[in-house]
Amino acid sequence: WLLQGLSPRPSFGGFGLNRLTKAFGGSHAPRDTVLAVSGVDLDVGENELLAMVGPSGCGKSTVLRLMAGLEAPTSGSIYMGDQRVDGLPARARNIGFMFQGYALFKHMTVADNIAYGLRIKKVRGDERRRRIGELVSLMGLEGLEGRKPGQLSGGQQQRVALARALAPRPKVLLLDEPFGAVDAKVRQRLRADTKRWQRELRIPTILVTHDQREALEMGDRVAIMNEGRFEQIDTPRNIYDHPASPFVARFIGRVNVFATAIDGAFGRVVKETDFEVLVRPEDISVHQVNGGSERDGGRLVGTIVNYVFLGRTIRLEVRLKNGRVVTVALPKHQAIGGELEPGRNVALAMGAFQVFPSSEGAGKRGVGS
Ligand code: ATP
Repeated sequence: WLLQGLSPRPSFGGFGLNRLTKAFGGSHAPRDTVLAVSGVDLDVGENELLAMVGPSGCGKSTVLRLMAGLEAPTSGSIYMGDQRVDGLPARARNIGFMFQGYALFKHMTVADNIAYGLRIKKVRGDERRRRIGELVSLMGLEGLEGRKPGQLSGGQQQRVALARALAPRPKVLLLDEPFGAVDAKVRQRLRADTKRWQRELRIPTILVTHDQREALEMGDRVAIMNEGRFEQIDTPRNIYDHPASPFVARFIGRVNVFATAIDGAFGRVVKETDFEVLVRPEDISVHQVNGGSERDGGRLVGTIVNYVFLGRTIRLEVRLKNGRVVTVALPKHQAIGGELEPGRNVALAMGAFQVFPSSEGAGKRGVGS
């Protein structure tokens, strides 16, 4: 523990996790131990918003609770800037958080809700009023200061909750599913606003979400978590275009997985059978069929079984001769010389694709021949 405490850290104004582990239970029956977080490393930059996504139970909330000081780690360390904080009680960490279901105080006005953390910190009256004023105008809550939470819309309540988290000027902001209770339009607005506030305030932030679109849209980087570990931490573009594992590719966006090689369709890269080939729906193009065979040059022939108009794109499902269904996304204006209606035969050509060993491993991106 001492040695870990002395190990050098790069100096930065954000925060970091160093081989952080949390096991729950199992003291009587070690086999029942749940390894919720398993030796994770993470650095979040000074002005960075890191979006964390992963399936239910993968350990996202536990990471946040460890950082906030609501759980004690089994091992590993947590840094804010150069200071190690995992031994500090929650109130000494200066972390702002907004957790799922973390409701406003119903009997208090908007202003009093925002002031809550300032009163605990014994911030003086005039300074307190100044900060409430700043946050009210930042969050667009002017005129609502005297209302109670029950007199606000869902979106306004979320803004007040965020203002309350930010009022004590925390060094770090942790958001766990912060936009859960509002409808899609309001959610969209809150995403954009939160990202803007985070930039303006230059506060390192972790946002936990179930929603992969939200993660791609909001994260400067995205961390994909699975079974207590990070599978990949990277920019949204790299996560999407260069997933580090089939898990990441399946989790973010849609992907077609070909379990066995289909000669010709993927050029020479994939002649073996112990590979998985992953192709995004938009990396497949659709062509007219010449003749009725299973292959059409390097293309795969199949029958359209479903056509879905999605506004900017069209999603097609095409059943190949071997029975498997491939999903294709086309720009809505794409014309291939005729209607793309169910029952019609088409030839599919693969553009970019990725090849992984079947047992999951580092991928290799290829471009179809
Ligand atoms: P969700 O997206 O569903 O909120 P999550 O990724 O946030 O999930 P966690 O809440 O961090 O997941 O839980 C990770 C694992 O740790 C789960 O298997 C969970 O059952 C277990 N766990 C969490 N808290 C405790 C606890 N207090 N005691 C025992 N096990 C726990």
